Order: sequence, then C-alpha cells, then structure tokens
Amino acid sequence: IVEVSNVRKSYMLGKMEVPVLSNISLRIEKGEFLAIVGPSGSGKSTLMNLIGCLDRPTEGQVLIKGRDLDGMSDEELARLRGLEIGFVFQTFNLVPRLTAFENVLLPTFANSRSTDPQKRAKELLSIMGLKDRMRHRPGELSGGQSQRVSIARALINDPSILLADEPTGNLDSKTGFEILNIFMDLNKDGRTVVIVTHDPEIAKFADRVILVKDGTIQYN
Ligand code: ATP
Ligand code: MG
Repeated sequence: IVEVSNVRKSYMLGKMEVPVLSNISLRIEKGEFLAIVGPSGSGKSTLMNLIGCLDRPTEGQVLIKGRDLDGMSDEELARLRGLEIGFVFQTFNLVPRLTAFENVLLPTFANSRSTDPQKRAKELLSIMGLKDRMRHRPGELSGGQSQRVSIARALINDPSILLADEPTGNLDSKTGFEILNIFMDLNKDGRTVVIVTHDPEIAKFADRVILVKDGTIQYN
C-alpha cells in the first residue's frame, strides 16, 4: 500500500544542508501492522512525515496505493492525504478552543467519503468510549481521552492507512496499552497501521518491526 524507494531526505538550515535520511527503501503491505523503532534523532518522525505525505523526499520515490507523490501538486497531495491517511501525534495536537466533537470534524472536507460527517464523528467518539465527553474541550480531558479524540479525528475520513508517531509516549503504561488495543482492533478491521514507538513492549505486538538508526533502516 506504501512503497518508499531509495529515499534521501535532508533539511535546509539556512544555506546548510542537514542530511537526515539516506538510502531508505520500504514496502508496507495492505493490512500490515508495522512498528518503527530507533534512537532519538534517528529520523523516525521524518520518515513518518514522508509516508504520511506531510513532506516530500529530497530524492527518491514515495508511492501511496501506487500513486507517485512526485508528479502531484500540493493540492493533489493534500487531497490524497485527506482521503487515505490518518495521523496521530504524541502530543495529541488537538485545538484547545474546540470541543472533542469539533476537533474530530476538523479534517472533513467537501468531497470526503463520509456523507454525514457529524453522525460519523459521534459514532467514532462513542466507539472510543467518549460518548459523554463530546462537548468537553481538550483541557477538560485526560491524556488517554485526548489521544482517543485524536484517533477519532484521524479516522473521520475513513483512511486506509493510520500513522501514529509515539502515540503512547505521553501516557502511563496502562493507558498506553488501551491505546495500543485500539490500534490493534483497527488493524484487525483491515486498516494498515504504522506506529513509531520507543517502547519494546508496544513494538512486540506489531507484525513487523523496523529499526531506523543514523537515518537508514538497519536489518539484523
Ligand atoms: P525522536 O525519537 O526524538 O522523536 P526522530 O527519530 O523522530 O527522533 P526526527 O524528528 O526525524 O527524529 O529528526 C531526525 C533529525 O532531523 C534530527 O537530527 C533533527 O534535528 C533533524 N530535523 C528534524 N526536523 C527538522 C527540520 N524541520 N529542520 C531541520 N532539521 C530537522
Ligand atoms: Mg520523532
């Protein structure tokens, strides 16, 4: 479902080029549960941002469902991202002034798949066990509840790929495992799930674990 071929990524800091990823090739199969591990600063988030169409590679190719990002305009890329990809972040990234319900509705757009996004948002919040928290703002929710709101938001357009960058990093281990269980259930339903994690206890539930070190994938 995702093909990354010979990707190199560097950031420009003023005139200085900072290389971050080199020689990355990775195939993610439809329905797979993949974990990405590796030391801090090794390039895991950078790789997730490329897979999630939040950024483009400096060199090499990224294909999502066979579609090459290279030929796409920024608008086409944003549309592909909106339809196919759900993103969950370590720090939840909820909008503080909006309610849980409004946060979940944020990524909906005119031609998204859902015919009744408001109904779907309510359903998703119920599935996440937050039926009685829809009108709460992020400041009135616990960490685990906030992360469940952000998972509901990631699912609102029914994406085939769910990406989560350290989704349990800010949660205690019990809550972290509850969140992991949600990802495992979503994966059982056929969704492709990719998580970045520091926690080997979480990674061992994945179908496959890849190690990113010094900007490349290390195989053992
Ligand atoms: P962590 O486990 O701490 O989240 P990571 O593996 O996710 O680390 P990245 O965030 O991908 O690491 O960063 C990899 C390297 O790229 C780091 O050295 C970082 O300083 C650099 N970097 C990341 N984003 C940028 C940016 N926007 N501009 C310049 N350098 C960046
Ligand atoms: Mg990171």
